Amino acid sequence: MKYIFVTGGVVSSLGKGVASASLGALLRARGYRVTAVKIDPYINIDAGTMRPYEHGECFVTASGAETDLDIGNYERFLDLDVPAGSNITTGQVYQEVIRKERAGDYLSQTVQVIPHVTDEIKRRIRAAGEKAGAEIVLIEVGGTVGDIESLPFLEAIRQFRFDEGDENVLFLHLTLVPYLGTSHEFKTKPTQHSVAALRSYGISPDIVMVRSKEKLPPEITRKIAQFTSVRENRVFSSYDVSHVYEVPLALEEQGLGKAVEDLLGLERTMPNLGVWTHAVKTMKQPANEVTIAIAGKYTAMPDAYLSMMESLTHAGIANDAKVNIKWVNAEELAEAGAGELEKQLGDADGILVPGGFGIRGIEGKIKAAEYARTHDVPYLGICLGMQVAVIEYARNVAGLPEANSAEFDQYAPDKVIDLMPEQLEVEGMGGTMRLGDWPMQLNAGTKIAELYGVPQGGTVTERHRHRYEVNPAYTDRLKTAGLTISGVTPGVQGRGAGLVESIEIGNHPYFVALQAHPEFKSRPMRPSPPFAGFVKAALKGQQAAG
Ligand code: GLN
Repeated sequence: MKYIFVTGGVVSSLGKGVASASLGALLRARGYRVTAVKIDPYINIDAGTMRPYEHGECFVTASGAETDLDIGNYERFLDLDVPAGSNITTGQVYQEVIRKERAGDYLSQTVQVIPHVTDEIKRRIRAAGEKAGAEIVLIEVGGTVGDIESLPFLEAIRQFRFDEGDENVLFLHLTLVPYLGTSHEFKTKPTQHSVAALRSYGISPDIVMVRSKEKLPPEITRKIAQFTSVRENRVFSSYDVSHVYEVPLALEEQGLGKAVEDLLGLERTMPNLGVWTHAVKTMKQPANEVTIAIAGKYTAMPDAYLSMMESLTHAGIANDAKVNIKWVNAEELAEAGAGELEKQLGDADGILVPGGFGIRGIEGKIKAAEYARTHDVPYLGICLGMQVAVIEYARNVAGLPEANSAEFDQYAPDKVIDLMPEQLEVEGMGGTMRLGDWPMQLNAGTKIAELYGVPQGGTVTERHRHRYEVNPAYTDRLKTAGLTISGVTPGVQGRGAGLVESIEIGNHPYFVALQAHPEFKSRPMRPSPPFAGFVKAALKGQQAAG
């Protein structure tokens, strides 16, 4: 197994995840079995308990891990489902070391950062690679070189090279080269300092990758090479592009794939980059354009909905369309009268209500679902977006004006959305939801079954992350009122059988909602079926209107 470690310098939020994922894409395009590991040096066990407003979305893996959004980038760029254990945090490492200490595994020893913590870090990296059956493991170390909390990880990766040998371990350092508009200069000093800092921990980068506004001019590349002692043909420029899917192409053009093969002692192979060239071409010259209104809570932080937006992009590629997003603040919608509602949603070709937690913005989301239903606007509801659609239908069609979710009103007379029975005994908040891959049994003749390519009915799998469900006590009433329950959980190990997985409304151009999060499985080359169908319906509605 070969290992590529990616560290970052100068500032955070440089797009280290995208740059590493793009390198992964170049290796995948050459046929290597690649997997990715993201290290987050915070003490949380996982990303499930953090605010999306600060860290962006929590990405859910097939195994049910609640991870950093970069794992989502890796899955999309590498077209892979990462195995459990691919998002390593300080919390996990210490929890395990302390558990072993209590169990007596280190009896008579003094338990220390070196070697016990560093050994545990190395063990986790190797285990993730083995579980994936990978030839190359790409490991991104979160944070910035010099952060106190990253130190044990840097020490562990320094040792890694020593353990595995030079030809099996590659260090790539990503930094920022700012451009000063006033003096029209690229400034390399922060990069020099950052590489020097990395060396002070015993790590010499083999490749320096530079984030910059524009492609670096050769004299700047030369200067960086000189000051960092990294050869000029190993200094790469990851410059700003209009969409992240251009990054693999921009890096391949500079020879990154070849450089990595050379450094790891691999034979040079030809990449097949068709997926990326096709995606970029469609995105740059789309035949169509649609506008999707997203009624959400974190409208000022698009990263909180990263996978969903990527899924819309994938659906756009499949429909040869550019998808414009119109963010609609759900809290403001709640108070909106008919005129304001029309202003906010009237120009949208489709309305999407995403997943979410907590009462804030709920009434606005319910209004958005109502608007879509009554105005024949294509609607896609995801997780909470399905729950609000059910509440809306119960209130306005099924004659239950006080219908609500127990999440928002424990004392509501008609809790059409309620806690799942297995959630009643749950005590802690971390990793306790219904998480990860669960099957959905789709019914014959429904729109969703057709979208997933099982028109006669069948089972498909999507990722989940929720505590509440459609209350089984109300399904008959909802059905009588005309709501279609299009999918349910088949009995899996006795758990969850019959849970409503998806709904739809007949006599509507497209009203589809799922309890699951299909956005987590969408890929540039394989769009998520409900998203692709949604964008298609939005386009159709637009053509009909025009
Ligand atoms: N808050 C809802 C639940 O827990 C929806 C969750 C979500 O949208 N991810 O069931």
